[in-house]
Amino acid sequence: MFNQENTSNTQWSISDSIRTYEIDKWGDKYFFINKKGNIAISNNTNDKKSIDLFKLVEEIQNRDIKPPLILRFNDVLKDRISELNNSFINAIKFYSYKNRYQGVFPIKCNQQKTMLEKIIEYGSEWDFGLEVGSKSELLIALSLLKNERAFLICNGYKDKNYIEMAILARKLGKRPVIVIEQRDDVKKIIDSVKKLGSKPIIGIRTKLSSKSSGRWGKSVGDKSKFGLSIPEIMTTVEELRDSQLLDELNLLHFHIGSQISDIKIIKNALQEASQIFVELNKLGAHMKYIDVGGGLGIDYDGSKTPTSNSTNYSLQNYANDVVATLKDYCDQNNVDHPIIISESGRSIASHCSVLIFNVLGTNNENYEINIKGDNSNSLIIKNLLDTLNQIKSLNTDDDNLSKIIELWNDTKKFKDDSLSSFRLGYMNLTERAHVEKIVWKCAKEITKIIEYKNIIHSDLSDIKSILASIYYANFSVFKSIPDTWAINQIFPIIPIHRHTEKPALEASFADLTCDSDGKLNNFIDKGNSKSLLHLHRFNKDEDYFIGIFLSGAYQEPLGNLHNLFGNTNIIHIDITSSEDYKITNMIKEDSKAEILKVFDYNVDDLLERIRLKCESAINNKKITIAESKKLITQFESSLRESTYLSK
Ligand SMILES: *Cc1c(COP(=O)(O)O)cnc(C)c1O
Repeated sequence: MFNQENTSNTQWSISDSIRTYEIDKWGDKYFFINKKGNIAISNNTNDKKSIDLFKLVEEIQNRDIKPPLILRFNDVLKDRISELNNSFINAIKFYSYKNRYQGVFPIKCNQQKTMLEKIIEYGSEWDFGLEVGSKSELLIALSLLKNERAFLICNGYKDKNYIEMAILARKLGKRPVIVIEQRDDVKKIIDSVKKLGSKPIIGIRTKLSSKSSGRWGKSVGDKSKFGLSIPEIMTTVEELRDSQLLDELNLLHFHIGSQISDIKIIKNALQEASQIFVELNKLGAHMKYIDVGGGLGIDYDGSKTPTSNSTNYSLQNYANDVVATLKDYCDQNNVDHPIIISESGRSIASHCSVLIFNVLGTNNENYEINIKGDNSNSLIIKNLLDTLNQIKSLNTDDDNLSKIIELWNDTKKFKDDSLSSFRLGYMNLTERAHVEKIVWKCAKEITKIIEYKNIIHSDLSDIKSILASIYYANFSVFKSIPDTWAINQIFPIIPIHRHTEKPALEASFADLTCDSDGKLNNFIDKGNSKSLLHLHRFNKDEDYFIGIFLSGAYQEPLGNLHNLFGNTNIIHIDITSSEDYKITNMIKEDSKAEILKVFDYNVDDLLERIRLKCESAINNKKITIAESKKLITQFESSLRESTYLSK
């Protein structure tokens, strides 16, 4: 007879965990599992300092800062910026390119103030700048940027106020470039120049007809929202020439979408843009800068494939292609090499942020079925118990796959029969509950055997979902990781501790919202995806922390207040030495009062209403004064507290 205890239940090593969660593939230089079986974060310097993430989260919790948390590792952010710049420096050297790279960070990717301040600080040695796509973002960039050489690329829809601010900012020593994205922009720029008597640096955004792919594939090309077609570019050049502004047209911009997975797409776009660049020179514009936009992707699942959660190129491959293509086209046409600008948001912002949530509970129950002591009258239950008995007495050493499949099919047949009986009134609720427990037990017993024997068979594939547990997660998918819901994006998700212990089961997560879409059930799986993740048994008395990695780009700005779950705590951390860290910034989470204000509730007014309701209940003798005091105190303190659950 098969006995689970004598199998490898306790034999589990860190390398098994690495294989299960594929952290060696997506973890890059930053994330690994340490000897204790906890996730560690490395700062990727020569002396390889790293800290224990589990210990960090526990210590943060001891400070009374509770999950969900966004942890931001300053060192990782710094390293990403440095790697982007160094990749271009290497490529420029390798191809003897005769100009420099000078990137900008697109604010829309993560507008959080501390994040932008760090990017500006860490990027200053390379004169790294900012890209804005709206007037509010322009206000941020104008106030935060200090470096006079750094570019301030002004994209997006523009009105006169936007254009005039950008022109005037030049007088503060900034380096704004107003990018013409719509035909309308040209006239607004010409009018503003006349009005202010001062000229901006002008850029022009082109619509490329090169095909893109992936999620944003359809939003580019001839019909894209932004950018000018070739005939529109020609008209614009003539208008600028007529207004004595052609000398100011210095930059060509394109952007073919985010997370471009296939380097071929990038190469095609670069070739087309390079050709437009040299042609603009021939038309008499003094083209000095080329802005290759965003699109530089992240390998979320570590598979290195041109699929939507991965990329088939490295940062260095990307830089090489940009530099080599531009050099070719410029050299062939005797055009000076331009300064290369990229607007790489995702690539810079993703790695540094880890979202941590705790598990509040599970629906996982372990049913024990007493076969002999069951004297049910129901034939279906008798049959099911008999099936369970047969499964339990299977000999694991035999080749009995067809028998296993037969028994599983029997189990499902009896379950269907029981549902029909229930519908027709021949089975009561107690019996139905009993049936479901026995079916669960049959699935459990078969799983033991097929795992032991490593059997994968399509007729048995539905067993997993019957056994799958749901883990209740203390966060909101809509607030913290909206792309998993909106566009099915996959992020690496992994428990941050217990990696010396064998995961007990497979489960998905349900979040705190009462929306049935508020769940995490899409996980990386060797270049594909799967709906269940291996997790450890949840113990109510212990913390169980899960990390969502590579989540620093776009999730915070796109997150919404569904069910009124607010911003989580954000903590910035410097890794100061091995096992030591310093918290550099803490951005406190939203209280309920803050979230209610967003929707126009006056907190004092709410409180007043509750007080008055209590008073009339006291008058009607429905509540005592003591009870009313308790209710009001709870109400008041709840307003000040987190929107998330405490343990
Ligand atoms: C969104 C956006 C970016 C950033 O793209 P990533 O793929 O995140 O690097 C850059 N430029 C423009 C114009 C954008 O709209």
